Amino acid sequence: MIYLDAAATTPVRREVLEAMWPFLTGDFGNASSHHELGARARDALEAARDEVAGLLGCRSAEVTFTSGGTEADNLAVKGIALGRRAVDPRRTRVAVSAIEHPAVLESARALARLHGFSVDALAVDGEGRVAPEVLAAVVGPETALVSVMVANNEVGTVQPVVELARVAHEAGVPFHTDAVQAAGWLPLDVRALGVDALSISGHKLGAPKGIGALYAAGRLALEPVLDGGGQERGRRSGTENVAGAVALATALRLAESERTTAAARLASLRDAFIARVLELVPDAILTGHPTERLPGSASFCFPRVSGESVLLELERRGVVCSSGSACAAGSSEPSAVLLAMGIDPEVALTSVRFTLPGSVGAPELERAAAAVGEAYAAVAGIAQR
Ligand code: PLP
Repeated sequence: MIYLDAAATTPVRREVLEAMWPFLTGDFGNASSHHELGARARDALEAARDEVAGLLGCRSAEVTFTSGGTEADNLAVKGIALGRRAVDPRRTRVAVSAIEHPAVLESARALARLHGFSVDALAVDGEGRVAPEVLAAVVGPETALVSVMVANNEVGTVQPVVELARVAHEAGVPFHTDAVQAAGWLPLDVRALGVDALSISGHKLGAPKGIGALYAAGRLALEPVLDGGGQERGRRSGTENVAGAVALATALRLAESERTTAAARLASLRDAFIARVLELVPDAILTGHPTERLPGSASFCFPRVSGESVLLELERRGVVCSSGSACAAGSSEPSAVLLAMGIDPEVALTSVRFTLPGSVGAPELERAAAAVGEAYAAVAGIAQR
């Protein structure tokens, strides 16, 4: 099987499994316990926090471990907006890009439904980017938070986060970014990006599912989403996932140490794959930004055929990928991301997303591209060129 669905999830790396193993077995203590086992768990948790903080360029106290990207996004969007409004009651609006992951979009909608906020959806251009002027026209003294992702999960487009964060700050508004897909592939130094909060998720970079982290600047008033025993400095209650935190820190360290070389290698393989697909299926349309995209991301629309049918034909040929985002899989609605980019609903229904894992090689991608040509021909009912 050729796995080209790395944006959905990745396998756990052996080094990560080995690093977390002791905290699932012998050193299984609760990090809040006052005995020796508890202390060992606490030490491991704090070492993992220090490591993640070092890799993100922030202070350890600014890293909160969560159950994944979804929870990190919920904590950022709801926590910052509610915290900001508590300090300044005029701040009753949140601005999010129209192509955010549902973890951000639905958090913003929940703020509107349950807490009386208004949501400003920031329009994107045909390549999926938010122009700083679009944000500048919306952000103001009523805005509590701006959230725009580093890179999109469906089309891979990378946002001008540095410029967008600057616009938000000029209006005195904190800026959150969802870096779930970017982690391990793009630089994520929070000072260089100029962001106040940033979410990551372990299972997209070789750690298990169920662990993530939120960087949130220490100065932010962050209203917790989970109430309870006050763990994670009161920002996220619940018994800490020590093994998960160790796994996330290990996976992020490995990914960062390999990032520059791995990203350049993958981008060049991806470019060759895109070129070959466009050669074999001249009708195919590359979606997203032609250059400002994640190194492993190749997403297309195949006009006049159903994306789901192409997926089935591809799977029969041993190639696994997805249409739109995995979270929306099974739905026959066109992707909201593609619609926001101005793509016709009929065309949006023909989308197929290939997200390359770092381990993929050129021969596999050559076979995968040939399979795309065959699958398209089979679905379109045409003789293959
Ligand atoms: N944000 C983005 C951009 C994602 O792609 C995903 C997962 O696909 C998430 C958030 C949610 O992360 P998790 O699966 O860890 O909840």
